[in-house]
Amino acid sequence: MNPVKTTCPYCGVGCGVRASRAADGSFDIAGDPDHPANFGKLCVKGAALGETLGLEGRLLHPLIREAGGGRREASWDQALNLVAKGFQRIIEQHGPEAVALYVSGQLPTEDYYVANKLAKGFFGTGNIDTNSRLCMSSAVAGHKRAFGNDSVPVCYEDFDHTDLVVLVGSNTAWCHPVVFQRILAAKQLRPELKVVVIDPRRTATCEQADLHLPVRGGTDVWLFNGLLAWLHQHGLVDTAFVEAHTEGAREAIAVAEQTGGSVAHVARACGLSEEKLLEFYRLFACTPRVITLFSQGVNQSSAGVDKVNSIINCHLLTGRIGKPGAGPFSITGQPNAMGGREVGGLATSLAAHLELTEPRHRELVQTFWGSPRIADRPGLKAVDLFQAVCEGRVKAIWIMATNPVVSLPDADTVRGSLSRCELVVVSDVMEQTDTTRYAHVLLPAAAWGEREGTGTNSERRISRQRAFLPVPGSAKPDWWMVTQVARRMGFAKAFPYESAHEVFVEHARLSGSSQDELPRDFNIAGLAELTPEQYDALAPIQWPVPQVGHGGTARLFTDGRFYTASARARLVPVLPHAPANAPDDDYPLVLNTGRIRDQWHTMTRTGKSPRLASHLPEPFVEIHPHDAMLSGVQDGRLARVSTRWGACVVRVRASADVLQRQIFVPIHWNDQTASDARVGALVDPVVDPISGQPEFKHTPAQLEPFDVDWHGFVLARAALPQSALDSVTWWSRIQGSRFFRYELAGRGKPQDWHAWGRALLGNPHEDADWLEASDAAEGAYRAAHVVGERIEACVFASKCVEDLPARAWLSGLFVRAQLEEADRVGLLVGTPLDPAQDTGPTVCSCFGVGRKVILRAIREQGADSVDALGTRLKCGTNCGSCIPELRALLATAPHLEQAVV
Ligand code: SF4
Repeated sequence: MNPVKTTCPYCGVGCGVRASRAADGSFDIAGDPDHPANFGKLCVKGAALGETLGLEGRLLHPLIREAGGGRREASWDQALNLVAKGFQRIIEQHGPEAVALYVSGQLPTEDYYVANKLAKGFFGTGNIDTNSRLCMSSAVAGHKRAFGNDSVPVCYEDFDHTDLVVLVGSNTAWCHPVVFQRILAAKQLRPELKVVVIDPRRTATCEQADLHLPVRGGTDVWLFNGLLAWLHQHGLVDTAFVEAHTEGAREAIAVAEQTGGSVAHVARACGLSEEKLLEFYRLFACTPRVITLFSQGVNQSSAGVDKVNSIINCHLLTGRIGKPGAGPFSITGQPNAMGGREVGGLATSLAAHLELTEPRHRELVQTFWGSPRIADRPGLKAVDLFQAVCEGRVKAIWIMATNPVVSLPDADTVRGSLSRCELVVVSDVMEQTDTTRYAHVLLPAAAWGEREGTGTNSERRISRQRAFLPVPGSAKPDWWMVTQVARRMGFAKAFPYESAHEVFVEHARLSGSSQDELPRDFNIAGLAELTPEQYDALAPIQWPVPQVGHGGTARLFTDGRFYTASARARLVPVLPHAPANAPDDDYPLVLNTGRIRDQWHTMTRTGKSPRLASHLPEPFVEIHPHDAMLSGVQDGRLARVSTRWGACVVRVRASADVLQRQIFVPIHWNDQTASDARVGALVDPVVDPISGQPEFKHTPAQLEPFDVDWHGFVLARAALPQSALDSVTWWSRIQGSRFFRYELAGRGKPQDWHAWGRALLGNPHEDADWLEASDAAEGAYRAAHVVGERIEACVFASKCVEDLPARAWLSGLFVRAQLEEADRVGLLVGTPLDPAQDTGPTVCSCFGVGRKVILRAIREQGADSVDALGTRLKCGTNCGSCIPELRALLATAPHLEQAVV
């Protein structure tokens, strides 16, 4: 079988991948050398896709909740009839505003298109919103204000032409690794290319930056207003461009002068030194080719839209847009956030970059769709939508491919809303998620690798997602489910689709319709005549694609014309706002949330990969050592993080990489993977007043020790039953290679460690080898369960977390066909007889290289550079995501105590 070319399902870089069947029937996943987004490169998440294709936990058949609360398998007919009748009844009784869809940036464009069409054109409600609201809706609103359309002007190729990359609120090294590596490769070729990072945290991205500005959270508008004023004061305005192609410059400059006219004042507001601030301003001023790449640190704010416009203003004032190597660049978090924007899958837009608020646009789309009614006003944005569910105003909701009980702010309220909602339909690939628990009807969705469709990455490049796996059970693509429901509601004529191809060409036709009357950036009319075979073979292409045979458009606004009524770009006057809630005596810290390098969203896919789980295996809070001391928490111990909205219990990682009074907690853990680590429950639901994007980066919080009587862990070939987990105070589950790892902690010591250990491991058969040691006085217990020559499970508990053995060597025993005598000797100690066998926690996930191996190479084998480590151990030679950590180890290894190694 030839390799199947498809697209990575994770971040907005949109890397091309090739899936080929290996001799043992599994699939090898590799980067597609022909794909222009990545030219064969993949980050560790993409490279590990082959480990995530198993069917464990998959939802394979429709399920319907029964009166007693249990679930029964149903036929598609039964499930779809239930959905169609439920939505129809509620619309008839309460009107179209009583129903809603909540969809996802993980959906292919075709699925998104059909869902949006059903909601806006046939239900007649704007109530379809998406998890992309949480990711880039501020960028969308900022683009519309500045350019008249939601347009991303630049492309990845621009990194090869630029001389300055400013990364704002973006840990690009971890969240968009292939783009980051592209920037570094360009820098290696042209060392004069400078990289500036603007971020309150010292992230991995900062390691290779020429300048890091650790701004105080929420002060970006100060900083960019300051830049705008400084450029103006120093006569660095591109007057010709401003006069010919923009409007609003005078007003924007006036506001910037008022708020950012003094460098000293701006530096104070941003918590920066004047020298550093001026260094940045001078760098920006003297570099004509600048890309300002921004992401969640800008967007996820109660002033996100203003932040976006403050950045765009600086590019417009200096004419740094529409030219190779220059422009503002909103990089999207999700694989198809851009496709969702194309189809209008936000409650605030209509379709094909036409607007709900414009009567002529509505008329056009209604005619095109042949719909009986069309939504005539924007629907409820994500946070408001779930509030409406909570208040009973929305009575039926269909959630597709997303997990709002984990990902939305004030997530406990979201959970409560769903538990009270009259009809909750969830289509998903997984049966057990924090959200599927509340579904009345569960619809099994085809997953990545099983479905056909397209997605659009951050640089407007449409790529095919192709199937290379059979669809398991009775799973179906979401476009099919929506089509079936629409037909059952009497809309068969408008929903004739039998394939993703048919949906795509309709979407392409709509994008091209009335472009003469209503010109807009999104136009793929050139793809509207694709035959099924041409759709199958479609090569990645950047929109606009206005005619057949057009090769796509790398960069927008090259002619200086924009999509506003005047065809001029707008500089928008923006005032700095403090974040909605300030820290106070009760909540003195600022909680920032975000992603980590090797996980994605709520881990339903990445959580299956042992490789990905090994880097940062547990939920954690990162805190400055000084604040840790003030809060009374200790590195490696548990702490309770609380806000006015909720609390979680996570491991402390003390690090000077976070600013004082800031803490960081990752977003990935949920009730399936940890007892108490859903950080969404802690986040203030305040949103940007224009975009509705929540402020995930700034919730006042406090931290306190979470005292327990013992700590422990289990490594076991079989998952522990929930009843076993219910018996411990705190747990976190990690997927290992042929085993599960559980980190545990408890209040109240078991009376009988022996009985406790056996019960925890499911009371293994008496004939099995059961090795055990305990010290009641010390509160220490260790046991191992061996069957034949293989280890089945081991459990370690201790009063002191520091007394527990490292997990790496024990984990390695699970891949051995049989235990050696030396392994058995080391088993209850938890360490190998030969210390060289202990590799330490993983640093390089691609090649599974542990910290201790790296430190030994540095200290004992003379590896003194990243290249030398790569040559010796291969670490850092694939995706490069671990290079910042390798550099840090190279810098610190000589100073570490020998005992660490
Ligand atoms: Fe996938 Fe993003 Fe990694 Fe590319 S950079 S392989 S799109 S997760």
